[in-house]
Amino acid sequence: MLKKIKRVIIKNPCLRNLRYNLRVILIHFFHDQEAALEAFWLGAEGEEQIKLLRQLEGFRRILKKSICRCSLCGVTYNDMVYFPRQKEWVCVECVDNDLVLKEYYY
Ligand SMILES: [Zn+2]
Repeated sequence: MLKKIKRVIIKNPCLRNLRYNLRVILIHFFHDQEAALEAFWLGAEGEEQIKLLRQLEGFRRILKKSICRCSLCGVTYNDMVYFPRQKEWVCVECVDNDLVLKEYYY
């Protein structure tokens, strides 16, 4: 069964602003946590360092796949479209400008 591509569109400017601010807060929180994990990683050695590197990569993948920013251009203020095949969010501007590869996302 194919999952549907979802568009999340908010027209109210106040709600758009609220959404943008929440995304920025989450991204700042993410970067703080990422910096702490990187500090542990730089101080570790051997197996522990490899384990922390995998955690760091997984952590970065979570942000890339989140609705907080477009996975193609990185903007945080646009409406987003969810592509279930890749489990990624892409902004409507990228979709409308045909920056999404059909073979990859559809
Ligand atoms: Zn985009």
